[in-house]
Amino acid sequence: MSSKNNNNNDKKQDKFLVTCLVIVAIVALIIASYFGYKMYNEKKEREVAYTELITDINENKIEKIKMTAGSSSITVTYKGSGEEEERQKTVLVPSLQAFMELVQDKVDKEGIKIELKQEGINPILKTSDTIFSMLPTILLVVLMVMIFKMQGLGGDSNGKVYGGEENKKTGVKFEDVAGLDEEKGELIEIVDFLKNPKAYLDMGAKIPKGILLYGKPGTGKTLIAKAIAGEAGVPFISMSGSEFIEMFAGLGASRVRKLFDKAKKMAPCIIFIDEIDAIGSRRTSSSGAESENNQTLNQLLVEMDGFASNETIIVLAATNRPEMLDKALLRPGRFDRQITIPAPDLNGREEILKLHSKNKKLADDVDFREFAGDTAGFTGAELANVLNEAAIIAAREKHEVITKADIENAVKKITVGLEKHNRVVSEKDKKLTAYHEAGHAVVSKFLQTQTDVKEVSIIPRGLAGGYTMYKTNEDKFYISRTELLEKMVALMGGRAAEKISLNEISTGASNDIEVATGIARDMLTIYGMSDTLGQISLKVDEPYELQMYGENIFNEVGNQVKLLIDNAYITAQKILIEHRDILDQVALALLEKETISEEEFQEFFK
Ligand code: ADP
Ligand code: ZN
Repeated sequence: MSSKNNNNNDKKQDKFLVTCLVIVAIVALIIASYFGYKMYNEKKEREVAYTELITDINENKIEKIKMTAGSSSITVTYKGSGEEEERQKTVLVPSLQAFMELVQDKVDKEGIKIELKQEGINPILKTSDTIFSMLPTILLVVLMVMIFKMQGLGGDSNGKVYGGEENKKTGVKFEDVAGLDEEKGELIEIVDFLKNPKAYLDMGAKIPKGILLYGKPGTGKTLIAKAIAGEAGVPFISMSGSEFIEMFAGLGASRVRKLFDKAKKMAPCIIFIDEIDAIGSRRTSSSGAESENNQTLNQLLVEMDGFASNETIIVLAATNRPEMLDKALLRPGRFDRQITIPAPDLNGREEILKLHSKNKKLADDVDFREFAGDTAGFTGAELANVLNEAAIIAAREKHEVITKADIENAVKKITVGLEKHNRVVSEKDKKLTAYHEAGHAVVSKFLQTQTDVKEVSIIPRGLAGGYTMYKTNEDKFYISRTELLEKMVALMGGRAAEKISLNEISTGASNDIEVATGIARDMLTIYGMSDTLGQISLKVDEPYELQMYGENIFNEVGNQVKLLIDNAYITAQKILIEHRDILDQVALALLEKETISEEEFQEFFK
């Protein structure tokens, strides 16, 4: 009893302390941001752009460059007479290394003075400012240590190991990975190497040290990595990139070291690093968390280079964002082999569904080919989830076996969200939803590239008040411009119908608008589908990279996006005005029946 009380008191005290610290930290932050703002304003007029600086260096206008390790802001002194202070300007560079690579030759030739400070305080800061600006950092660190201690998070995890000495198996085999035959074929030699390294080494064969697996989450990257370890019968040491990123400098790097030390002791083995982009993203700027990141990445590079290829350690890493990775990771002797793990195609989906239904009781009429057709774009993880949801639905409905309808429901639940039968919907909302959904369905019927409507409903699901489901019967790699434009028209059909029939618009279209805007933006900035902007990619890492397209680039993209959406909306309106009778009929049928099937919908067009 009394110990319980003590415990409670402790907790209260902890809470009180945390509250105090939070308050102090907030106050400090406010003070610091005030100083930061002041400094920013003072600095602003003396800043020059990166590109301008490069030009100035090439034109011999620079006398001296001051850099501080770990800071991406450098101070340059221009040639000329007068106080040195007056001739100084600050420039933000993407990274010190990249900058130096760019100007090194010129610097050597012209004898531009380079001052490199190891660490320290930005030269523009005055001491008083410095203390204030560091206050929140200090307080935050103290706060974090407190929280850290309280939650007992201090422990150092350096890699989960599946299968130690006593049981060297992940238990996963290639047969547990459905589809992906080509990819498995490519990886089989790794298994063979791990099983029998001597044969390869004697032959002088070079086996890749590192293999990168590219692919969306849930496509089976971890699974296939485990299967390699399982097939080879070697330990599987795994860690996620995000686990390396630590609040405290240096910890990430030391974790990498420990991970490899451990692997060396267990070799032959597999190291699996999930989400490698968390540590391996391009070393752009070098401030704060980024520089911690760099240390971790550098350590990883050191380790990769450090172990010999006869050490029989294979490092597999997975990422969803290959374009983010630092190029240094992809050099020979590191992750020099890359394998793309795609989302499954029709056959793959059927196989995955079959595999995951093995331990489930299914009705005889379940046709996996059909469900594979309905689930284009689903990943392996999503398909596994479909069957799991179907089993839950079947159990809840007290079915003997999982029925076709249960799986259909599960697919719907995952695509549009759970049915909300008990949500109270007013008559007015129902009417609005009916017209909105009828609008989507009718408009898409008149668009060449849009797939057939599978179901229209005004039963709320997830966050949506209703939904229009389309058939997905084709796996496609490329989407044409027309198709994208028409997709936007179909999306705008909902709002257009609200406006035409009820002379009112609602928030119900927010998601449609969001998706349509995304399509329009991608068309212009990624797919180069704009006549005025041209076929250039405007997808950049840092906004300053867009400067080369001129000041107006942002305006232009904005205007073009707006134009595309306006056009889509007008087209949708035109179609609906022309076929107003069908729109009304479909909306009325929805109000009556709540859900219309594919066949019922087709009837309106006979
Ligand atoms: P990733 O690492 O690519 O995010 P995972 O390997 O963690 O994906 O996949 C999650 C789950 O999805 C797996 O545990 C498995 O149940 C299922 N899965 C994914 N792809 C496949 C596949 N090709 N065959 C069988 N199951 C799969
Ligand atoms: Zn809609």
